[in-house]
Amino acid sequence: MSLQLDTRQRAMLEEMGVKVWGPSLPLGVLDDAPPSPPRGGEAAEPAARVAVARPATVPAAPVAARAMPAEIASMDWGVLEQAVASCQACGLCQSRKNTVFGVGDTQARWLVVGEAPGENEDIQGEPFVGQAGQLLDNMLKAVGLNRQGTGAQGVYIANVLKCRPPANRNPQPEEVLQCEPYLRRQVALLQPQIILALGRFAAQSLLQHSVPEVATMPLGKLRGQVHSYEGVPVIVSYHPAYLLRTPQDKAKSWADLCLALDVMRAGTPA
Ligand code: URA
Repeated sequence: MSLQLDTRQRAMLEEMGVKVWGPSLPLGVLDDAPPSPPRGGEAAEPAARVAVARPATVPAAPVAARAMPAEIASMDWGVLEQAVASCQACGLCQSRKNTVFGVGDTQARWLVVGEAPGENEDIQGEPFVGQAGQLLDNMLKAVGLNRQGTGAQGVYIANVLKCRPPANRNPQPEEVLQCEPYLRRQVALLQPQIILALGRFAAQSLLQHSVPEVATMPLGKLRGQVHSYEGVPVIVSYHPAYLLRTPQDKAKSWADLCLALDVMRAGTPA
């Protein structure tokens, strides 16, 4: 795989902290992934060696549609956002300052899915506004996307959980279960052409029905392949908070973005 980089993209990669050697970045870097701390990070990974797969491996359409509460399945964007804002389906409603529904172009071709709001997101009601968000914005800029963009530059950003877990603890299975229909409806309304799942909670939530062993798989093993969620290609990558702590893995995350770009360019049907 090779990618021609213009000056702006090279500058963006510098911002990401990705070193660009020669005319194009070496992709599919095969470093071993180290153990990582919690929240916004990945579980300790064994020495997974990842080869970047080709987009030709997009799996077939989903096995079967999962049941979504009927009222959510018929909501439009505005009603869905209101439903999230008043949601009391789990205990997180008691500690949240704001719900964090999502941001970006509701007609975007790209959907980025993170884990859950942190402190800044809880205060501002917008996903990825802290340090990890700055890195995410730089990563997206490197592939020509931004959260204010529309058309080819458009991206929508959402989380698995719409409310902040206290003290940034990991999402609980019950919370993920309760919140899942909202993300599923966001996907149905957006109809993205690609989903970038950042971190293990996003990967686990999106791939639980298509990758049976996803809960026990290290993130590194989920990378480098084109998965599928509700018929939409899914690329798994590292969470930006993990990358802040583990900058040596930024090159792998760039490889993941390049794979996503390849999938988009190929227009591979899922
Ligand atoms: N981490 C996430 O996964 N999502 C956010 O919105 C912020 C930090």
